[in-house]
Amino acid sequence: MTAPNPESIAANLTEVRARIATAARAAGRDLAGIALVAVGKTHGADAIEAALDAGQRNFGENRVQEAQGKFPRLKTAHPDLVLHLIGPLQTNKVRDAVALFDVIETLDRPKLARALAKETAETGRQLEYFVQVNTGEEPQKAGVLPREADDFVAFAREELGLRVTGLMCIPPLDEEPALHFALLAGMAERNKLPHLSMGMSADFETAIRFGATHVRVGTAIFGAREPR
Ligand SMILES: *Cc1c(COP(=O)(O)O)cnc(C)c1O
Repeated sequence: MTAPNPESIAANLTEVRARIATAARAAGRDLAGIALVAVGKTHGADAIEAALDAGQRNFGENRVQEAQGKFPRLKTAHPDLVLHLIGPLQTNKVRDAVALFDVIETLDRPKLARALAKETAETGRQLEYFVQVNTGEEPQKAGVLPREADDFVAFAREELGLRVTGLMCIPPLDEEPALHFALLAGMAERNKLPHLSMGMSADFETAIRFGATHVRVGTAIFGAREPR
């Protein structure tokens, strides 16, 4: 595989944005309510920089350590860059994550929620949180179970005072994602959460139809990833 070049990243971004606009129109939704989160995991800082040059500002990374290698300098150069953590967070990485990320989309257990509340209280840094829901109840996947979501949202929001504003899911690979998107949307509505992070390269248009406010797109922007 050849590394993505700046021109192809810019062209891909233009195309993904156009597809988002078309999906928003088809769903009768305001385009301003849909954020594109560009997922640059495994790609270098130069790829991120090409996306920044093309006007992209929301980015997602799934590993704290990898993000630490790319984003501190880019965030200094672009203070309006918003960085989302979209991979599982270990409590021993909470300090580093709070220092670097703006949105943590993978809040999924009380121990992590407590550690984040403690760290943000000590540092005064305010982050935004989405609760990850394991909509497919897959044993190997992170996220709270659907039946635990309401209680966990209430705990994080009311008892710990975390700014929980949305839900996030990654549907099972072999299932129709629409069912999972609909389930997540219902949960968000019930809990009065305005944000829904769902949809990736293969299914972001479907996610928009079901109310996604954040679509996480990697491959369609940066090209295929090398195996780790
Ligand atoms: C890698 C990743 C994405 C992007 O996936 P693509 O299929 O490359 O668009 C989205 N969400 C999460 C949680 C990811 O880990």
